[in-house]
Amino acid sequence: MRLCNYCQKQLQNSENSLCDNCYKLLQFKLEKAARPYWDAGVSYNSNININYWKNGFFREKELNAEEIYDFMYDNFIRFKAVGIKGGRETAYLLMPRFNESLIHFFLCKSIEEYIKGFTGDVRLYTTKKPDIVFGAGGRKFAVEVETGSGASHPKRLRAKVKQLRKEYEDRWFFVVSSYTLRGKYEKFGKTLVRGEVAGEIQKIFRENSKQPDYSLRQRNTA
Ligand SMILES: [Zn+2]
Repeated sequence: MRLCNYCQKQLQNSENSLCDNCYKLLQFKLEKAARPYWDAGVSYNSNININYWKNGFFREKELNAEEIYDFMYDNFIRFKAVGIKGGRETAYLLMPRFNESLIHFFLCKSIEEYIKGFTGDVRLYTTKKPDIVFGAGGRKFAVEVETGSGASHPKRLRAKVKQLRKEYEDRWFFVVSSYTLRGKYEKFGKTLVRGEVAGEIQKIFRENSKQPDYSLRQRNTA
């Protein structure tokens, strides 16, 4: 059964992406915001370029009514959550990358966004690589976001941890989506809940900013 992309209630007609209420609400908001532009004979357009759009991660309050309307039609899903910096629950519009849960995608993108405040050297992976890999002080660090499915596959989890230790030594950690999962992952490695991530990333950049830049040194001696 399909759910409404905006309110997550079950849809009567599974061909739609929005329920009647949300469709009417978004259309109303769009008309209200766009009417002055239409009356003046100018267009009311999205400022979002295609690369930004592909990012799949937006705060609803950063978008105009037309963008919200378009995004909801393009199968973005509205998701309310507390971000890694804490504070109030905020509405996000998300487009997960594959058949992943909203919370997994949300945490990966939130952490990526936070790391981007320190370095452009950050990448997300959907393959066997860690969820997030970033550079600090010339070394690579990894983050593995866990929402619970890994705990039910202990063999796969152990293999993952072995690979992380081999490639990143102690420069990696788990981020779990809820406190109840912490105990399941803690025995394999450092495990943080979302409210602890920002502090850990700050610490990594603080402690590694004075490390020599090995990539630079290699380039200079080559
Ligand atoms: Zn709805």
